[in-house]
Amino acid sequence: MQKYDFTVIGAGPGGYVSAIRAAQLGLKTVLIEKNTTLGGTCLNVGCIPSKALLESSEQFESAKHKLADHGVITSSVKLDLAAMMNRKLSIVKTLTDGIAMLMRKNKVTVIQGEGQLVGNNRISVNDGKDVHEIEAQSIVLAMGSIPVELPFMPFDGKTIVSSTEALSFKKVPDHLIIVGAGAIGLELGSVWSRLGAKVTVIEMLQQITPFADKQMAIMLQRLLNKQGLDIRLKTKVTGASIKKGKVTVTYEDKDGKPGLFTGDKVLVAVGRKPNSTGCGLEDVGIEVEPNGIIPVDSRGLTNVPSIYAIGDLISGPMLAHKAEEEGISVAEDAAGKVGHVNYDVIPNVVYTEPEMAAVGLTEEEAKAKEIKYKVGKFFFRGNGRALSLGETDGLVKIIADSDSNRVLGVHILGTRASDLIAEAVTVMEFGGSSEDIARTVHAHPTLSEIVKEAALAVDRRAIHS
Ligand code: FAD
Repeated sequence: MQKYDFTVIGAGPGGYVSAIRAAQLGLKTVLIEKNTTLGGTCLNVGCIPSKALLESSEQFESAKHKLADHGVITSSVKLDLAAMMNRKLSIVKTLTDGIAMLMRKNKVTVIQGEGQLVGNNRISVNDGKDVHEIEAQSIVLAMGSIPVELPFMPFDGKTIVSSTEALSFKKVPDHLIIVGAGAIGLELGSVWSRLGAKVTVIEMLQQITPFADKQMAIMLQRLLNKQGLDIRLKTKVTGASIKKGKVTVTYEDKDGKPGLFTGDKVLVAVGRKPNSTGCGLEDVGIEVEPNGIIPVDSRGLTNVPSIYAIGDLISGPMLAHKAEEEGISVAEDAAGKVGHVNYDVIPNVVYTEPEMAAVGLTEEEAKAKEIKYKVGKFFFRGNGRALSLGETDGLVKIIADSDSNRVLGVHILGTRASDLIAEAVTVMEFGGSSEDIARTVHAHPTLSEIVKEAALAVDRRAIHS
C-alpha cells in the first residue's frame, strides 16, 4: 500500500492549493481527482469559463452599442458563437494544464480516480480499471459542490439545465428563463442577454443577490433591467413542462396569482449543495448535517481527528478564494503550523456590468447587530477615470464604526469593482479605519480615487462631491 503524509480528495481550488502548500511544507502529498482535468468546478465549469464568456459578450455589446460614443464606428457587428466558445475552452485548457504543471513542479503525486474513505487513514481509489488503497496521516476532503435541482423540474441537460450546460449552449436561446437571481443566474443571464437572448429571471426572494447590501442590490437590479433583463422578484416557480422543444414554466407572483413563461431553455440557478454523499463519509463516522455540510472545528478538522474538510463542503460562502484559504490553512495545520482563515473578511463579487463587490457587514447587518455606524458614499460619475472609460454607473459605500472609524463593510457597484474591493479587504484585514484610506495617496486618475473619496465622505469631507 502506498503511504503519504497528506492526501487530498478533489482537485478544485481548495484541494489543489492545499496539496501545493502541503508539498511546500515538506509533506509527501497525493491529490486524487476523478475528472480528467484538474481545477474542479472553478476552472472547468465555474469561475473561469463564466468570466471568459462575460468578457467576450461584453466586447460584443460594446462593439454594438458603446464604441460609437468613443467615435469608433463599426459597420456590421456579427457574433461567432463557436469562436467565442473556443476562446473560453482554450483559457480553461491553459489554466487546467498549468495546474498539472504546478503539481509536477511541487512533486505532488496526482492520481486520476474516484476516492472513497475506507478508514480514518485510508482511502480507496477507483480509476475505472483497478481499485487500490492509499494510507495517509492526514486526509483533506475537498469534493466541492453540485448544482441544486428543483424536484418538480429535474435537469435534463438540454432544456432544463444547470450552469454547466448554460456555459456551452451551441446557439443563442430565443428566450432563456432563469430561476434564481444570485451571482450565477445574473452573470449567465447577462452573457446570453448581451448575445441576443430574451432573458427572464425569476426570484422567490424580495431582493436579487441576497448577500448584498440592499441599496446596492436595488441599484444593480435597475441597471440590469435597463440592459434588458426582466427580473421578477417575490415570484415562485411551481413547475415546468416541455413540448415540441419549448418549455413552459409556471409561477405564482407576489400576490399568489399564477402565470407562465414559455421559452426554449431554463437555467436553474438556485444554489449549489455540498458533494458529500457517496464518498464513504458515513462508513468512517464523519458527521454530515442534513443539508450536506460537513461540520469542522476552527482547525478545519471533522469529528474524525485525521480528516479535514474544506471549500464548498463546509459552511460559509461557496467561493473559490475561501476554498483556497481553507486549503492552505489545513495544510499548515497538518504540518504542525497554525493555519488561519479570517471569515469576517471574505470578499464576494458578482461579475455583471457593472460589477458588484462587497466585504464585511452590510448596512442591514450593522443595524441588526445594533452597531453605531457612519456611512460614506461616492459615485462613479464624480470620478474622472470613470468618465473617461464611459462607465459612470455605481458607487462605493463604506460603513465605518461611529467612534473609531474602523471599516466594518465596503460595498462597490461599478466597473472593475472586483479589483477595487482588494484595497478594502486589505484595510479590513489590518483592522484599519476609513481615516487610513482617506489619508492614503491614491494615483490620479484612477477608479481607486472613488474608494478614497468614499472614505473621506465618512466624515463628510469628500473633495469632489
Ligand atoms: P470544486 O471546485 O467543486 O472541486 C471539487 C473537485 O472534487 C472536483 O474536481 C470533483 O471532480 C472532485 N471530486 C468530487 N468527488 C470526488 C471523489 N470522490 N474522488 C475524486 N475527486 C472527486 N467562485 C468564486 O469565488 N468566484 C467566481 O467568480 C465564481 N464563479 C462561479 C461560476 C459558476 C458558474 C459556478 C458553478 C461556480 C462559481 N464559483 C465562483 C464557485 C466556485 O467554483 C466554487 O466555490 C469552488 O470551485 C469550490 O472549490 P472546491 O475546491 O471546494 O470544490
